[in-house]
Amino acid sequence: MKVAIFGIGLIGGSVAKDLRASEFCTEIYGVGRSAKTNETALSLGLVDKIITKEEALEHADLLVLTVPVNVLIEELKFILDRIKPHQVVTDMGSTKGIIIDAIKDHPNRNRYVASHPMAGTENSGPQAAIQGLFKDKICIICDKEKSAADALVLVEKLYQTLGMKMKYMDAHQHDMHAAYISHISHISSFVLAATVLEKEKDEAAILEMAGGGFESTVRLAKSSPEMWAPIFQQNKHYLLEVMDTYIEKIYHFRNLINKNKNEELLDLMREANEIRKILK
Ligand code: NAP
Repeated sequence: MKVAIFGIGLIGGSVAKDLRASEFCTEIYGVGRSAKTNETALSLGLVDKIITKEEALEHADLLVLTVPVNVLIEELKFILDRIKPHQVVTDMGSTKGIIIDAIKDHPNRNRYVASHPMAGTENSGPQAAIQGLFKDKICIICDKEKSAADALVLVEKLYQTLGMKMKYMDAHQHDMHAAYISHISHISSFVLAATVLEKEKDEAAILEMAGGGFESTVRLAKSSPEMWAPIFQQNKHYLLEVMDTYIEKIYHFRNLINKNKNEELLDLMREANEIRKILK
């Protein structure tokens, strides 16, 4: 089995590390963009060779797309236009609806398996790759009935090799849950960091007082804007909905403080504490 990874960043590089430590494949090819990333991926031993996408279509059995979601559609169409009957393509993008809709009528649609491994960090690039990143986490596979049985089995085997458990849902369900949980968390963290940077001009104070919760709350604001902006654009429908609720809650919180409604403020926070029942 030969695997080609398009986009050797945090996710692509981490997949490569786990595959290297397994017997899933004999060769890992990287299809990279910048010379710097390609050199890093090679020098870290993440991939055996850097090749072009045409060469990947010539030599690989499984093509794994780990580029930002705004590039995914174009790459996926390029591959599906040329894919051979034994080859399989999957993507690990954080949005699914727009991508799946873009290729829904493609004659080779069934060689594609849409997936999203729910694992990551705030760091980017091949140097951020981590072995074991996906272990015991959930991978969402979308619209599995649209993929050929052998393609689905191969992609499930890939994720089992990464140590993941599979969940199946349709693309729009995926996008809704991703917006309500993961994407809003990133927006909230970006906005918190921007707010603190605007209000607090004393960098030393930020550093000294970060230990009290700021550091963990703001971690996601270190994430790559190039990677996240297209996710927010593509998942606009569900994101705007959850952002409206979020903004209402912030206003409500502000009003309770402003009007000294202490009991109501406590109630609101106790309601938020209920998250403990789900996340221990
Ligand atoms: P990353 O570390 O920034 O890596 C992205 C890779 O894609 C880099 O190798 C980059 O190449 C390449 N790339 C960027 N723009 C490109 C373009 N226009 N054409 C071709 N290649 C391009 O990002 P990541 O965190 O691994 O995310 C990759 C994918 O995984 C995204 O679709 C994301 O939605 C998904 N995902 C991310 C997470 C997460 O938490 N990070 C979790 C699950 C899924 P250069 O280095 O040369 O620019």
